Amino acid sequence: MASDNGKRRGFSRRRFIQGAAAAAASSSILSSAAREEKHGEEEHGHRRPPSDDAPDIVFVNGKIHTMDDENTVASSLSIRDGRFAEVGHAARGRHGHDTKVIDLRGRTVVPGIIDNHNHIVLMGNRPGFHTPLENAYSIPDVQAIYAARAAGIPRDAWITTIGGFHSNHIYANPSDPTSGRLPTRAELDIAVPNNPAFIEIGFTGPATTNSAGKSLFESQGITVAENGSMTGNNPSRALLYLRQTLLNPESRRRAVVDAMNYAATVGVTTHLDQGAFQATNTAADGAAHEDNFTMHIPFLEVYGKGKGIVRLRINFLHMETDQATPELAQRLKNAFPFLGNDMVKTGGIGEFIAAGTSATSPFVAAAKRVAAAGWRAEVHSLGRRNAPTSNPADFELEIMGFEAANLESPGVVRERRWVIAHVPGITQEWIDRLQAIGGNLSLTGWQYLAGNPTASTVAPYAGPPFRMIVDSGKRPDGIHAGLSSDGMQIAPMNPWLHMYYATTGINARKVLINPNQQISREEALSLYTRQNGWFLREEDELGTIESGKLADLVVLNSDYFAVPDEDLKKIRSVLTVVGGNVVYDGGVLDLRG
Ligand SMILES: [Zn+2]
Repeated sequence: MASDNGKRRGFSRRRFIQGAAAAAASSSILSSAAREEKHGEEEHGHRRPPSDDAPDIVFVNGKIHTMDDENTVASSLSIRDGRFAEVGHAARGRHGHDTKVIDLRGRTVVPGIIDNHNHIVLMGNRPGFHTPLENAYSIPDVQAIYAARAAGIPRDAWITTIGGFHSNHIYANPSDPTSGRLPTRAELDIAVPNNPAFIEIGFTGPATTNSAGKSLFESQGITVAENGSMTGNNPSRALLYLRQTLLNPESRRRAVVDAMNYAATVGVTTHLDQGAFQATNTAADGAAHEDNFTMHIPFLEVYGKGKGIVRLRINFLHMETDQATPELAQRLKNAFPFLGNDMVKTGGIGEFIAAGTSATSPFVAAAKRVAAAGWRAEVHSLGRRNAPTSNPADFELEIMGFEAANLESPGVVRERRWVIAHVPGITQEWIDRLQAIGGNLSLTGWQYLAGNPTASTVAPYAGPPFRMIVDSGKRPDGIHAGLSSDGMQIAPMNPWLHMYYATTGINARKVLINPNQQISREEALSLYTRQNGWFLREEDELGTIESGKLADLVVLNSDYFAVPDEDLKKIRSVLTVVGGNVVYDGGVLDLRG
């Protein structure tokens, strides 16, 4: 687990805010964040003399996969003022006496990973000391991660894991009786005897707790089985209790910092957040519920203090049932798309623009409204057709809705880069139809955790059909595709798990569920970096390691292009850089140079 304890040695933390003045012109909350961040920069007192053009950092002796047009692999690069300066094989030649020179010792470097569809804002609003178990593959792994967490937090504080993993991940060996189940009360007691613990899968459980958690839950009338397991609506009742008793502005800011630190350890440097189901503050809420109107505040406060270490893009989720979509109408009048600075800014409407996609839902009306306002729409599809004659799948209704909006506002889908995410069941016919109007697809590896083979005769893969879509993108004027996690409830944030699934088609239980749809490692990494820069409309700033772009990079613990398939799951960052700042240091490189 990433933490603050001295991991960021070696560099002064500087912020170079581009466009802060433009941000200050409108949206008050974003602009005050930008102003405070700029103030923080001046406080640190690092003003460069105008004539000094020496780089701040030089990396040498690496295998630097730039992901540029030619897939250039460089050995050195330099960073100046938060941007890449020289990228090639000669950066060592030019540096001043303040320049840090870091010897990569042959390590693989990739652009900072961009996740174009996740829910990091939910992760930053978790009650308790949320502790990702995305990288636990056994009960002893869970115990070790929990024990390490307990060592760094107050005695009696809640340790929680709400989504992002699945008991399928604890499936190292099918003959092992602990494979494929959550840890028990006794197993959690061994790891964390003094802290109540709560682990929940997916949106609404099942869940498990330890003895300290069991007695607190039972005092609230929540049912816990003798072995700690919680089923039915008890996990959601427990989550409501934890939210009501543990969440406050300070705890949320702490959770934001934890979420950002975790992101840095797995190399995700930019996140396009796709919102939450609107909270009702009842036990009907699950892990994916939050208040869409206030949940960004702790993030903006962290950015406002200059402590935001990864980039955030914010989509606004709308799920109205009223054909007039009054809330969406007000959003479009009173908010601004793509407003902010390069650390935090707004995006579009998504991942829902209305409740449902059927003819009786306001989906088409909402699409037309978003189009007329000149915003980007992003929606998701989880459906598939089971036979050529069955009812239309959600992606078919969505593409028809996009077509209707595009007819009223010609060119809007292409120009504003509208997106359909996940698309497990999409077929070539519908890819072609979406491509014709300039629509785009975000592919997600979430089936990895709990997906199964499909019986569909129309789309006989668990999906998404990575191969079909990437090949469609290679045609003239082909469809744009990106890769995303859809973390943090039903899927992990860890991008290397999604790249494992995209390149192998194999799920967490080691079953091949996405046959004939595998893509290459080069293709998967391109989707997660370069292509996702395009999805953010920031392809000139992010996604590749090229001179002039924002200096976001990840130094990996192993060679992504060479390790055996199973070892893709073990890839982590050993050094993450965002805007020229080291935001995670795994301690294996010498940063004193
Ligand atoms: Zn999502």
